Amino acid sequence: DIPVLCIDGPTASGKGTLTERVAERLGYHVLESGALYRATALAARAAGIAWTDEARVASMARSLALHFSGGRCYLEDEDITDALRAEEIGLGASAVAALPAVRAALHELQLSFRRVPGLVADGRDMGTAIFPAAPLKVFLTASAEKRAERRYKQLISKGFSANMEGLLRDLEARDLQDKTRSSSPLVPAQDAFLLDNSDLSIDASVEQVLQWWAQ
Ligand code: C5P
Repeated sequence: DIPVLCIDGPTASGKGTLTERVAERLGYHVLESGALYRATALAARAAGIAWTDEARVASMARSLALHFSGGRCYLEDEDITDALRAEEIGLGASAVAALPAVRAALHELQLSFRRVPGLVADGRDMGTAIFPAAPLKVFLTASAEKRAERRYKQLISKGFSANMEGLLRDLEARDLQDKTRSSSPLVPAQDAFLLDNSDLSIDASVEQVLQWWAQ
């Protein structure tokens, strides 16, 4: 049985960094499930398919030629790592993620990331829908202001332009959409450990998760 450690939470809560650091410490693989929704949104847009067209977006998601290598993400042969991070694609990801047929289309693909010796899975529904039997589920949160600040720094460092007010607005709109959708809404699993990292360093967060994992 391959162990899975789930890290779920709202946008820009620091899941990505925490996931990478914990996976590195344990020597585990990583599933960044948000990238699958982002890639679906990106591929749909490139094909001229509206993000609301459930049947066509789902069929796109089922045939996604996505692969990960050396920390980069490729669609067909194109390196889409940076394009995936654009704020607009994040909003598109949230839109396509609200469609049940798209979530179903990506379900199997997410399960296939489970490989020896183990997996750290980052997303919104890793602990509730994809890996409900996982031995450790963490639900990561931080204040909306802290999250907007982190997203701002992340975008600027990748060469995108950004403004705090707009980001805070986008982030709250996205969270509301993620929490209120009918299919796999963003809620902590019943057996999840809650971790608020608003005032916690990344090192302290990593240690906390490893301590829970060791229990
Ligand atoms: O985590 P990230 O910001 O990359 O995710 C982008 C969007 O994809 C989220 O706002 C959410 O709507 C959706 N998502 C999801 N389920 C996941 C991961 C991401 O619905 N497991």
